[in-house]
Amino acid sequence: MWKAILRERSLLMKGLCRRIGDGRSTSIWFDPWVPGGRLQPIPRIDAIGGISMVSNFIRNNGWDHTLVRRWFNEDDSRRILNISLPNNQSKDSWLWLPESNGDFSIKSAYRLSLNIDINRPEYAKWRTLWGARIHNRLKMIWWKILSNSLLTRARLGMVLNMDTVLCPLCNMDDEHSLHLLWSCEFARALWFGCLWQVRTDILTATSWDDWLMWFSDEDKRPNQMHLHLFLGGAAAVFEEIWRTRNKCKMASAIASYAGLPPPGWIMCNTDITLGNSDSAGAAIFRDDKGGTLKIHTF
Ligand SMILES: [Zn+2]
Repeated sequence: MWKAILRERSLLMKGLCRRIGDGRSTSIWFDPWVPGGRLQPIPRIDAIGGISMVSNFIRNNGWDHTLVRRWFNEDDSRRILNISLPNNQSKDSWLWLPESNGDFSIKSAYRLSLNIDINRPEYAKWRTLWGARIHNRLKMIWWKILSNSLLTRARLGMVLNMDTVLCPLCNMDDEHSLHLLWSCEFARALWFGCLWQVRTDILTATSWDDWLMWFSDEDKRPNQMHLHLFLGGAAAVFEEIWRTRNKCKMASAIASYAGLPPPGWIMCNTDITLGNSDSAGAAIFRDDKGGTLKIHTF
């Protein structure tokens, strides 16, 4: 876990840089602050004379060229003098270098983390994802899934000692994202219950790459809808499954969520969805321990 955090941290440090405002909260010694090369240039003279903050090099909202050139070598001075300062007094903030607008994005962080050539064929899925015209929240869900960072039990089990890695919704298979969001009985009911009425058993995917490959064929998509639309809708279904799963994190919590039948009884919960021309429904049968016995969709 720590290794992962440290790795992320050093990744972020590669992309983060101070956005200079008044320079008062940026140290020339400790902060990354000069884009376009070494983010923390080392001054060529010692810190005598009390200079330690970037603000010491700013006069009337502009750089003190003479002082900058005296303190830093030619290349560093040039990069410092290239930093545009705001016209009005504003505080220093953070800049995310990989994006041209300085705003952080998962896409650029991911690219930075792999140092990849995004055009290589094995990154087709990322190209599809980042190019998809869907809401960023939904992209984020896809990103978590495809980068295997959705914290399912099976994923956590890789780094932590878990009591169980079984899916909390069905207790029948390890909780991998593909199981939880696609092949689990609960997912099956939800996918079929949604307006698209997708039957998840048409595809026995062993990876998300398989899944994406299958649905990249428009004949496989409901109503031959556009891929972006489908990916957006799929992420919304995933989000719903994930929300339900979090509500029922313990297997028995499924029961407390819906109420427990008396010992020896079986409880059936039903739900239906009405579409314009069709409707679909699901019936979930549970025993008195809260275990799911059967899910029927119709
Ligand atoms: Zn399951």
